[in-house]
Amino acid sequence: WAKSEGRGRWTVFDSERNDREVARYTLSAEMPAALHHGEFYVDYQPLVALADNTMCGVEALVRWRHPRQGLIGPDRFIGLAEETGLIVPLGMYVLERACRAARRWHGAGRPSRLGLAEPERGPFISVNLAERQCHEPGLVRQVERVLAETGLEPERLQFELTESQIMATDGGPLERLRELASMGVRIAIDDFGTGYSNLAYLRRLPVCELKIAGSFVEGLRAPGAADPVDARIVASLVDLAHALGLTVTAEGIETAAQAERLRTIGCDAGQGWYFSRPGPPERIATLLDAAGR
Ligand code: C2E
Ligand code: MG
Ligand code: MG
Ligand code: MG
Repeated sequence: WAKSEGRGRWTVFDSERNDREVARYTLSAEMPAALHHGEFYVDYQPLVALADNTMCGVEALVRWRHPRQGLIGPDRFIGLAEETGLIVPLGMYVLERACRAARRWHGAGRPSRLGLAEPERGPFISVNLAERQCHEPGLVRQVERVLAETGLEPERLQFELTESQIMATDGGPLERLRELASMGVRIAIDDFGTGYSNLAYLRRLPVCELKIAGSFVEGLRAPGAADPVDARIVASLVDLAHALGLTVTAEGIETAAQAERLRTIGCDAGQGWYFSRPGPPERIATLLDAAGR
């Protein structure tokens, strides 16, 4: 299109921008059928306790196996799904898959060596919850239904909400989070440090974990190396979280030096390619088996 901008001024037809718009529109129009045809699937990435390198949690990350475009990552379609509302059924699909996978890791069909019934244990499953989902009046009932159907204990489920999302939470969405928390479901703040947190606000939310954004982990070096500003930021975020009674997970750990630095800082857990890339659910089972859990 050629659009007049003010008197006597014209912008030329921006074909690149137009192509992008068409591609976005096409992708979002294809999504409902893609969900119906099983083109979405879930990968899983371990969260590792830094004190003893055990797997304390697992994050569920959705992907789209597109018939013509190949693998598409969530950064390209979650925003679109939020706009169209498809995130509601898509999010429920991810939740069901993730809870079912987690239930399997927790010893279903895994007799203990003594043949005795083993107590529930193993990593919790952490699922990203979009803002739109929190506005659904039926959210809590649906979560209860998935837990009942999969037999997963509520304490073994965590929802991750981004910092900016959680700061805007009020009214119905806040009530829903409180109800989930009172059932025993864990609530985590994702990508912490990238938004504008109000500490007073943080205290009135039923949050139990902070996930420090990978952008702060990038600059970390081995302990003893010159102290970059990122290390001081991370150390103060960890102190802040602990003061509020929360556990802390650092995202985007790619090197042994970063993991070691975070451990000495007192960060509870870590997630990143250094430990494991996201992968299929069988990989998590294999890792747990190898660790004798
Ligand atoms: P997130 O929740 O912050 O997830 C962490 C992202 O960091 C994932 O990207 C993961 O693959 C990536 N990552 C993990 N380790 C490393 C590392 O060592 N280095 C680097 N550079 N990256 C690492 P992914 O899978 O592309 O997901 C992107 C975002 O999409 C997620 O960020 C989350 O906000 C959103 N997302 C993913 N799955 C879902 C879902 O089921 N529902 C909703 N609402 N959002 C989702
Ligand atoms: Mg997340
Ligand atoms: Mg994150
Ligand atoms: Mg993110």
